[in-house]
Amino acid sequence: MSALPNSIQARDVRYLLHPVTNARRHEETGPIVIESGDGIYVTDSDGRQYIEAMAGLWSVGVGFGEKRLADAAHRQMLKLPFYHSFSSKSNEPAILLAEKLVEISHERLQRVFFTNSGSEANDTVVKMIWYLNNARGKPQKKTFLSRLGAYHGITIASGSLTGLPTNHRDFDLPAIPVKHLTCPHYWRQGREGESEADFVDRLAQELEDVIAEAGADTIAAFIGEPLMGAGGVMPPPEGYWVRVQEICRRHDILIVADEVINGFGRLGTMFASDYYGIDPDVMVVSKQITSSYQPLAAILFSDEIYQGIADNTAKIGTFGHGFTASAHPVACAVGLENLAIIEENGLVANAKASGEVLQRELARFRSHPLVGEVRGVGLIAAVELVADKATKARFDPVGKAGAPLFGFGHEHGVIVRAIGDQIAFCPPMIIRPDEVVEMVARFERALTDTAAHLAA
Ligand code: PMP
Repeated sequence: MSALPNSIQARDVRYLLHPVTNARRHEETGPIVIESGDGIYVTDSDGRQYIEAMAGLWSVGVGFGEKRLADAAHRQMLKLPFYHSFSSKSNEPAILLAEKLVEISHERLQRVFFTNSGSEANDTVVKMIWYLNNARGKPQKKTFLSRLGAYHGITIASGSLTGLPTNHRDFDLPAIPVKHLTCPHYWRQGREGESEADFVDRLAQELEDVIAEAGADTIAAFIGEPLMGAGGVMPPPEGYWVRVQEICRRHDILIVADEVINGFGRLGTMFASDYYGIDPDVMVVSKQITSSYQPLAAILFSDEIYQGIADNTAKIGTFGHGFTASAHPVACAVGLENLAIIEENGLVANAKASGEVLQRELARFRSHPLVGEVRGVGLIAAVELVADKATKARFDPVGKAGAPLFGFGHEHGVIVRAIGDQIAFCPPMIIRPDEVVEMVARFERALTDTAAHLAA
């Protein structure tokens, strides 16, 4: 860190508490202050340039420095910088974006509610479904099913749905009725001698058992990321989602697809639900909806859910939920322009093509002594580092390899994400095949340094 007492780094340490950061360590290292971005690159306050292999936080799909999005925000700010959507007020960008989202998503998804973040969206989903079930005269039907390893946000309800110890510990979560099922990650959770198909059978049976034990009349919904992201990029086993869907439908349990990371092309299809054959009742999107140039999330849901809620508002007077900035006109204008860029520039097809290069390039590391598993689909992937390749033993402490690799990555000009010892990749969807090769080459140098560091 710059030692100057008034450097930007020193002032950061003086004033800010950072999310998901070891505050005491941060006081010593200081921040890396990112000053600007262009395409797949970002530059810090010391002038060092990095390939942003995580698109920020799985989010800057169209890349950095996209002038069309700045122009869209500028135009909308001059015309109408803010209006709320309470009490029947509306604004044109929100209406057009809702229409667009319904048009590009599954037939079943007909209605939209906007929030500012993925966490708020998932909290809203919980409240919408509770409200709906109260209205349907099923006040007992409130429990959510989720999975260990899931990430659905950090607010009280969404954080409860999340299935990660660091997001629960010392926060008194879970705080809503939720049951976390087995993480559908075959490589880690599959048992000795169990085939992938047997693993899916076991998870399906677990779901049936949990429903039978609690009673289907107590379970409101099953929420899942089609491909789990922040917990470590874990694609589900073959056939998993079709089974889950069949069981949930049979028991009148709604299916919520959390596509906050997956949505808008990440897997090489517009939505990951397309990829896995999921036909959700509710879909949550955020991040790449605006490429994170503006905070925005949307909940897409079925007309059936809408009618149940609307009927109740007719009885009690209102749907008493919403945020000051729900359907914010500037965020929605940026979202519309962003979806136009994704379409016009063929970024979903690009994610598929560059994604094939990413998966192929990373597959080379399967034989590396530190690498336990390489996994992913399209332009999202992870390389899991292990202490013992044969037994899959994790490092003790967790992060023993991931943390130094993250640092060496910076030295070699690439920003990856270390989820413990799982190294995640989720680059901007504009990335070209040759840039993927360069990104992986930089990661390889960091991996080599990590191996030397651990051996020393
Ligand atoms: N759901 C998923 C699948 C996510 O990946 C995230 C964020 N990484 C969230 C919800 C929460 O979104 P936010 O950080 O905008 O609250």
